[in-house]
Amino acid sequence: MKVAKFGGSSVASAEKFMKVADIVMTDQERRIVVVSAPGKRFKDDIKMTDLLIALTSQILTGNSYAEEFKAIIVRYKEIADGLKLKSYICDEIAENLQDIIDTYKEDANRLLDSVKASGEDNNARLMAFYLQSLGLKAQYVNPKEAGIFVTDEPGNAQVLKQSYRELANLREREEILVIPGFFGYSEQGNIVTFPRGGSDITGSIVAAGVKATMYENFTDVDSIVCVNPTIVEKPKDIKEITYREMRELSYAGFSVFHDEALHPVVSQKIPVCVKNTNNPQAPGTLIVAERDYSKQQVAGIASDEGFCSIYVSKYLMNREIGFGRRLLQILEDEQISYEHTPSGIDDMSIILRKCQLTNGKEERVLERIQKELNVDDVKVQYGLALIMVVGEGMTSSVGVAAKATNAFSEAGVNLELINQGSSEVSMMFGVKETELNKAVQSLYKAYFEQPVSALTL
Ligand code: ASP
Repeated sequence: MKVAKFGGSSVASAEKFMKVADIVMTDQERRIVVVSAPGKRFKDDIKMTDLLIALTSQILTGNSYAEEFKAIIVRYKEIADGLKLKSYICDEIAENLQDIIDTYKEDANRLLDSVKASGEDNNARLMAFYLQSLGLKAQYVNPKEAGIFVTDEPGNAQVLKQSYRELANLREREEILVIPGFFGYSEQGNIVTFPRGGSDITGSIVAAGVKATMYENFTDVDSIVCVNPTIVEKPKDIKEITYREMRELSYAGFSVFHDEALHPVVSQKIPVCVKNTNNPQAPGTLIVAERDYSKQQVAGIASDEGFCSIYVSKYLMNREIGFGRRLLQILEDEQISYEHTPSGIDDMSIILRKCQLTNGKEERVLERIQKELNVDDVKVQYGLALIMVVGEGMTSSVGVAAKATNAFSEAGVNLELINQGSSEVSMMFGVKETELNKAVQSLYKAYFEQPVSALTL
């Protein structure tokens, strides 16, 4: 049994729905379909989820929301009309959305989550209806009925363990089941959404629950490429990659697969295949527990901008017990999350996304560090980009790190920081944002265009 998840761009129009139906029909193993809300049809199009968020803010500010409401129904109607479906399905969608608004309009968080979730929910109803119209035995299944139970954190749900037991019952069902992605139900019965892009997470939870032989993740690219294609032209495809490698890459800017979506399938060792809805014959990228890395130690290079570093220096910091804890406590008090903390004898840097320091937090944090920790120097350095070189073969091979440092020196890029060792499968480098492209291009050349010379131990 396979679970096939279709992302927003794969279910954005009637034409895409037809492709999905073809894909479902060509493989009888595809018994469970998870869908996103309609995504973008063209570059400047607006995703359904964003339309729904705009609708919610109109409601919450007490403004008229008729226009936003209409835009949402029009999107579904275009799909339904293009598929020649009976018009009452869109009347039902409109009623369902109005019901949600009437029920939750006094509770901002619940309203936002329930309205957002309706994007996938109504799209799943539409998909099931369409598959039925083609004569398939298909059935919409609500996440509550499926047994997807989550923590009660609006917009940030995490799956509860009991879900896997409940989901196992879906194996007995004979129909093709269509489940909306992106949300589950709390034990109190509230609709709670995962973080943005979270339909990938639903697909993975369902695949783990039913012990699928494969979790197929359909999107709009033939395969995952090994580096950001806006930095390196036509980079190589990744044919096979491990869970650990994928997790590191998606954390650091690879947007193809949600970085929280692997966890559920990992323990069951269910392979994940990222495939293209527009070209389903292409083999795609296979994400597995283990791969033979003797010929390609490095799987990919991820990079992202928008970081900054809080640099703290104090003579004899290494001997001051509790210094690190008190420093991090200041961040915790301000609800700031950080990414890395490279440190030296007398210095420590905290690398974080710069958006974490807005709304006066920067001034408050610097002042407290200065006063409470009595440091010699504290400053924030902006304009930092992080690069992760990721590969299972890295720790057991000689010369992999040397290749990176050579690549930086050949490109004339100064390294702001290096972090190697905490993760067995990645090395992290910090460079100035202005030097990012040069650095990544040079690394790509070193790892993917030159013959493998590193020795495997
Ligand atoms: N529709 C949601 C979003 O745009 C979830 C998803 O598509 O995975 O974030």
